[in-house]
Amino acid sequence: MAEFTMELNDEQKEVRDWLHGFAADVIRPAAAEWDEREETPWPVIQEAAKVGIYSLDFYAQQYFDPTGLGIPMAMEELFWGDAGIALSIVGTGLAAVGVLANGTEEQIGTWIPQMYGDANDVKVAAFCSSEPDAGSDVASMRTRAVYDEAKDEWVINGTKTWATNGGIANVHVVVAVVDPELGSKGHASFIIPPNTPGLSQGQKFKKHGIRASHTAEVVLENVRVPGSCLLGGKEKLDERLARARERAKQGGERVKNAAMATFEASRPAVGAMAVGTARAAYEVALDYAKTREQFGRPIIDNQGVAFQLADMRTSVDAARLLVWRASWMAINGRPFTAAEGSMSKLFASETAKKVTAQAIQILGGNGYTREYPVERMHRDAAIYTIFEGTSEIQRLVIARTLSGMPIR
Ligand SMILES: Cc1cc2nc3c(=O)[nH]c(=O)nc-3n(C[C@H](O)[C@H](O)[C@H](O)COP(=O)(O)OP(=O)(O)OC[C@H]3O[C@@H](n4cnc5c(N)ncnc54)[C@H](O)[C@@H]3O)c2cc1C
Repeated sequence: MAEFTMELNDEQKEVRDWLHGFAADVIRPAAAEWDEREETPWPVIQEAAKVGIYSLDFYAQQYFDPTGLGIPMAMEELFWGDAGIALSIVGTGLAAVGVLANGTEEQIGTWIPQMYGDANDVKVAAFCSSEPDAGSDVASMRTRAVYDEAKDEWVINGTKTWATNGGIANVHVVVAVVDPELGSKGHASFIIPPNTPGLSQGQKFKKHGIRASHTAEVVLENVRVPGSCLLGGKEKLDERLARARERAKQGGERVKNAAMATFEASRPAVGAMAVGTARAAYEVALDYAKTREQFGRPIIDNQGVAFQLADMRTSVDAARLLVWRASWMAINGRPFTAAEGSMSKLFASETAKKVTAQAIQILGGNGYTREYPVERMHRDAAIYTIFEGTSEIQRLVIARTLSGMPIR
């Protein structure tokens, strides 16, 4: 097990500087344009593919970094560049991790390369779990997968919503109900291969922020996929369902609580995205406060402004520390006895919202315009307290974990 450290090693520093260069030279200059266009920034994704940032190899290298700092460091740098474009770059990775974590070796080898495509023909992937009536309440999911034994096929019907890259993805990973009696323990994930009949894009959402990232409904009408598209395989699913039925007999509440904690290990990565946005806004505000003069002196000469900057930087650093701790715990299999993953996501996402608002205030009228990036960063920051579990759900998970009580 790697010791917890706050010091990046030489190799990590090199990767961080390389990512920072890409974020500063390629992502940041393109941010305003793609925010206005509200479209997937394919040319930027292609650039990222050419240099090796948009690839499974890169993602897997960071994901399996034994210090746990690879993913948070990479997320922070890319999202420092711009949240919408960065989400377009890492969105595929989120779907790929679903396959890496639950898929068989054959599934990993077959589907992940098709999620990324190659530098000349880049593709993206989508992870589709949320539904119109099942957001925070994952157990209310209705999309149904039924096994057709005669053909060894799964038949999937339902509507997914809020899917990042939904409908434009080459490969969709779809979570569906296989046993309605078991709540979220009766769910399974399926690969929907490219061009599968019955899968279509529904509404594409016009969003407040991260507008360069495509978000849409995904409609599944009698979608048939081979048995081999069930992630992990049928035998493993049957064993898991049998265990869940046994546990359900002992008490439904336990089943529900476990479901809420499922994302504990992946939440710090979202926290790291928020740290990137918060740090970016803080840096813009610091520079501005040092150069903008009113009453014959830089505005940072006023304690009212300087103290805000001190608080902003303190919060950003505190958020990063929580994220790094949780990421280290996740890679080393440490139990999240105080829901440290949720804690990191909660604090970092609330920090991003607050710090970006403070940055607008420090830039005054300029902060409120699209001539300066903090306005966009503030719109972008609002997503962190919503996706991958809202702030309220994080508080619920933390409170339940700390108390052992079924708090509502
Ligand atoms: C831009 C974007 C991208 C997304 N990408 C994806 C994706 O790629 N794949 C995917 O599957 N999903 C994705 N999501 C969905 C996201 O995870 C959900 O929006 C989120 O889980 C919240 O669900 P909801 O929107 O239905 O809100 P609701 O669950 O309806 O919540 C509404 C409000 O009620 C509060 N609330 C609900 N229950 C409780 C409770 N028990 N206690 C206290 N407060 C509560 C919430 O905190 C929130 O403030 C994305 C969403 C957005 C906006």
